Amino acid sequence: MYIVLLGAPGAGKGTQAVRIAEKLEAEYISTGDMFRQAVQSRSELGLKARMYMDKGLLVPDDVTVRMLMERLERARCAVILDGFPRTLSQAEALDKALAGEGKTVERAVYIKVSENELMKRLAGRRLCRQCQTPYQISTAPPRKAGVCDRCGGELYQREDDMPRTVKKRLEVYFAETMPLVYYYQQRGKLAEVDGEGEIEAVGRRILSALGR
Ligand code: AMP
Repeated sequence: MYIVLLGAPGAGKGTQAVRIAEKLEAEYISTGDMFRQAVQSRSELGLKARMYMDKGLLVPDDVTVRMLMERLERARCAVILDGFPRTLSQAEALDKALAGEGKTVERAVYIKVSENELMKRLAGRRLCRQCQTPYQISTAPPRKAGVCDRCGGELYQREDDMPRTVKKRLEVYFAETMPLVYYYQQRGKLAEVDGEGEIEAVGRRILSALGR
C-alpha cells in the first residue's frame, strides 16, 4: 500500500503522515527529512541539497528520485510518502518504479489549507533536531519551551521557514506541485481533505478519506 500526501509547505503533511503511518502500521518516508539529515551529516548529497533548500527551491529531480528509489528498496510494503512526489516527473518516476514491482499508489491525499493559515503555521513551526517531531509555538507547543516532548531534543526553526524563503517555497509549490493534484485526480486516486482545524480532526478526515 502506497499513500502519497500532497499539500503546501505548512499544510500539516508531516504531522499527519506520522500519525497515519502509526495507525496503519505503515512506514513513514519524508524526502525533506532525508535531505535535512544529509545536510546535518555534511554528506555530498547534503551539500548539494542545501544549495537548493536554503533558497526555497526544489532539489533537482534526478538527485531526489535516485535518493527516494534507494530508500524504497529497503521499505516495507506499506508506505506513507510525505513530500514526494513534488513534480510531475517525480510522480511519473514513482508510478514507473512501482509498476515494475506490480505495485501502485493507492491514494493521494491533498491536504488543503488557505494561504493565510500556511504563513501563520510556517512562522510558528519548530522541529526537534533529533527526532524531527514538529511543534507549533502557539497551538501545539511542547510541554517545556524549546525541548522535544518525545526525546528531549532541542527544538529549532528551519532555515527555510524564515519569511524570505517561505515566499519562494509557496511560489514553487503552486507552480510545480499543484499540477499533481490534477495528475492524481485524473487517475481517480485523489482525496481532498480540509486541513484546517484541530490536528485530531484533520487526522480523522484523512483516515475517513482513506476508508479507515
Ligand atoms: P519539506 O520538509 O518537505 O518541506 O522539504 C524541505 C526542502 O527539501 C524542500 O523545500 C526542497 O528543497 C527539498 N525537498 C524535499 N522533498 C523534495 C522533493 N520531492 N523534490 C525536490 N526537493 C525536495
